[in-house]
Amino acid sequence: MINRERVVEQFLTLVQINSETTKERQIADYLIEKFQDLGLKVEEDATAEITGHQAGNIIATLKGNDPNKPSIYFTAHMDTVVPGNDVKPVIREETIYSDGTTILGADDKAGITAIIELIHQLKEQPTTHGDISFVIMSGEESSLAGSRQFDTSRLTADYGYALDSDGDIGTIIVGAPAQIRLTALIKGKAAHAGVQPEKGVSAISIAAKAVTQMPLGRIDQETTANIGSFEGKGPTNVVCEEVQLIAEARSLKEDKLTKQVEAMERALKQTAERMGGEAEVTLEKLYPNYNFTETDQVVDVATQAIKNMNKTTKLTVSGGGSDANNMSGKGIPTVNLAVGYRHIHTKAENIDIDDLTEVPLLMYHIVKEAVK
Ligand code: ZN
Ligand code: CA
Repeated sequence: MINRERVVEQFLTLVQINSETTKERQIADYLIEKFQDLGLKVEEDATAEITGHQAGNIIATLKGNDPNKPSIYFTAHMDTVVPGNDVKPVIREETIYSDGTTILGADDKAGITAIIELIHQLKEQPTTHGDISFVIMSGEESSLAGSRQFDTSRLTADYGYALDSDGDIGTIIVGAPAQIRLTALIKGKAAHAGVQPEKGVSAISIAAKAVTQMPLGRIDQETTANIGSFEGKGPTNVVCEEVQLIAEARSLKEDKLTKQVEAMERALKQTAERMGGEAEVTLEKLYPNYNFTETDQVVDVATQAIKNMNKTTKLTVSGGGSDANNMSGKGIPTVNLAVGYRHIHTKAENIDIDDLTEVPLLMYHIVKEAVK
């Protein structure tokens, strides 16, 4: 069945190709050639022009051997976080690490490895299937930039799976939050801090008071909010005129997200007004939420596939977004599957070879289950 040696070799090759987010050209070229060699139809979309990343998203399609069967797709992303250049993978007791000076990049090269191995499997152990597309996104680590611009009319798939979550194999992320970024420009009034402080309005004071008025942190089971940056800078002898605040809010429920963001905006505007200043607030929806249950086909097919492997299914919700958010939001039901990587976005990132080899097997079972 799954060729363990080939899986490891493929993974080691991928993690050694530099692909820090925005700089995806090298890995994109590698993948295009790889999918072509495997006999798939390959395209790269033109979203790089919009995202400013070096590569667009890659869409590779394996033609179905039965056109009457439903079409599904799998997605993984080609970019990594920083520091992700010149990764030197190290294997210790069947687990793969970096040498400790960089991340490993199992996020998400474990997903890409699984896709490539699945294609090998489908050639070596043919089974009936409809068209299967593989979408390798660019810019996932840049707030899902690639999938945000993805044109779903390029896909025939009815539903699909992102291979981009931590957790035990068999874990299905059935829900994930929407996220809004709030940027506020708080304007006070400058004055000489020693001579005429009463003529000034401190933007720092406005911002500080507004922040204390905001619900932040964990709001409820489904909602979180956080201030990421608070910037107001100047000499001590001037009443600070301007502060920029950048914050985020997330919720599994769109109405709760709206309510949370409104509360943050209100705190800023009311405080500014009360103190004689001004707050300009900009809201940017980074990605939508998704919520599925065990009765949805996309969840049901994966659940059956996991059962067929004699593994335990775990349905859970995540606090983070993935390309599954954008794809589901664009109308192609997509859940995120655990691929077993650990400590991602750190130099301690690692993955077990057992997990690397089990994901393509799960995908193979999904392909079989999808035609039933
Ligand atoms: Zn990822
Ligand atoms: Ca990531």
